[in-house]
Amino acid sequence: MRELGSRLDRIDRKGYGAYKDLQGSYYFEGFTLFVDRVQRDPFAPPSLIRTRAKDNRFDPTLFENPVRRIAFEDFLTRMAEQAVRAIARGNRGAGGSGKVEIQRPSQVVIPRSSIVVTTEYIEARMAVGLPARGRTVDARAARAMLLEELPEVVRQALTPEGVDEKAAREHVEVVEDANHLRSLLPSLGLVAFVADGAVLPRESGASDRPLQNGAAPFRSPEEFRVFVELPNRGEVSGMGVPEGVTLVAGGGFHGKSTLLSALSWGVYDHAPGDGRELVVSREDAVKVRAEDGRSVAGVDISAMIRDLLGGRSTENFSTPNASGSTSQAANIAEALEVGTSLLLVDEDTSATNFMIRDERMRELVRKEPISPFIDLIGPLHGSLGVSTVVVAGGVGDYLDVADRVILMEDYEPRDATDDAREVREKFPPRAPLGQKEWARSPRAHHIHPSSIDLRRGKRETARGRGLHAIELGRERVDLSYLEQLAEAGQTETIARIIGAFAAGGEAESREVREIAASALSAIREDGLGSLGNFRGHPGELSLPRAQEIAAAINRIRSLEASAENSHDPPARPHSYLDHEP
Ligand code: ADP
Ligand code: MG
Repeated sequence: MRELGSRLDRIDRKGYGAYKDLQGSYYFEGFTLFVDRVQRDPFAPPSLIRTRAKDNRFDPTLFENPVRRIAFEDFLTRMAEQAVRAIARGNRGAGGSGKVEIQRPSQVVIPRSSIVVTTEYIEARMAVGLPARGRTVDARAARAMLLEELPEVVRQALTPEGVDEKAAREHVEVVEDANHLRSLLPSLGLVAFVADGAVLPRESGASDRPLQNGAAPFRSPEEFRVFVELPNRGEVSGMGVPEGVTLVAGGGFHGKSTLLSALSWGVYDHAPGDGRELVVSREDAVKVRAEDGRSVAGVDISAMIRDLLGGRSTENFSTPNASGSTSQAANIAEALEVGTSLLLVDEDTSATNFMIRDERMRELVRKEPISPFIDLIGPLHGSLGVSTVVVAGGVGDYLDVADRVILMEDYEPRDATDDAREVREKFPPRAPLGQKEWARSPRAHHIHPSSIDLRRGKRETARGRGLHAIELGRERVDLSYLEQLAEAGQTETIARIIGAFAAGGEAESREVREIAASALSAIREDGLGSLGNFRGHPGELSLPRAQEIAAAINRIRSLEASAENSHDPPARPHSYLDHEP
């Protein structure tokens, strides 16, 4: 610590580049500080540091198994983030001078690279803006930052003396319960569970935090109530959503989309206080929607859409500009391809002509390539074992295909399955549904690595840009419609996975699902740290799901891909089909 102080004194008022001398490690009281990378100037991306507490003095039960360890790391990240905000003064001169940053978690609990807990040590990865006066070293400010603020952050957030152990324990136990609950779903024949008392509505459309005032807690209908035994909380009750087709009906503004959205986030565990701690769904659940304008490369949508213009096959479908219906079909095909047991579909974000076709239109329009989703939703479960929860407030036809109906009234769910049966008898369908078979899963499509060009000027780039964009060379991949992407760290991780695939020099094309699976298994083996750009400091990464990795790859506009067994050459975007249904 003294050594760092005297090095700082030596370089005071020298050109900013003199900070390079700081690179190295320093013994502080209770921890070691590693200065891994020093920025070039005050406006450049910040410098990367790590603190490592020599021994982990926390109660070992807080991290005794992988789920608990991830939860405890999440807890410490939240503590560190709060401590930084409370302690670090921030602005201390030009550019990013004085800034201290650690990953900022969203509402979900997932593996991150910000904090590493092992039985031996606790390591935190942070970024700091080394302070500048103009373009020179400001040693006094740097001393305050690194020798005063930083040790205080470590003391408050990362030691048993500073941390509220009861809160840590609750955090870990809540996450463990949720995780256990999710693992019970298949054996209970359920695709989702919503605990009684859960708070589903969010603060606003722009915030994923719980609604503070006037939230009606969730209460399961008697008919769907299930009791489960959790390791820490003991017995809890809530609504079980069984496998099959579940329709969520109800008037406008009665909480349908809020329920569906909570289910879509149920693939993740949540931090205590979120309101959805015990709202879980199958971990591979995918919310699918229409996304007109997206590009599609080599996807087999033939089960949903056949024989487009000129009899063109849709087993290997590509377009730079999908319509509402073809984009939704592609989203479903891609979700099935990477693997899912639950689709979540909301009328609010669906293409009408993809969802239904009523008897009059069936009569009038004979040339219709689309098999509406309503004809496929049953076979999807019957043939492929994929369940669906669909929100439809305006289309009664869905009553014919639902195994059960949840009616939302004033934010309260009711079992309306029997009522729906009566309605069906009163208003029988006038034209028979065209129930289709779903003979096989969509063909897997293969990606040609050479079609992803990372070059941008003299450099190669593959990086996340906030939550909803990835920059690959000169292309910006738009992820705005990936509704289950939780935080920017996941986006960054996905960018690096794609970057590694594109730069790996592979000559062979690979299946999308395989790219995702092999990346995830490498991470499982070597940790998120293996994706770091700089030795020792990968602190900004969070673990994505295979579903989001695949979805991001599938949205690359330059992508060349082809569906397996297809005799067509790899589909080139912009080559055909500027018009479609
Ligand atoms: P729908 O999809 O049925 O039209 P939404 O789910 O969009 O309705 O909900 C409408 C509004 O009601 C939203 O502003 C939402 O935040 C709010 N809301 C939903 N559920 C609850 C609840 N349980 N308590 C309080 N407000 C809620
Ligand atoms: Mg809605």
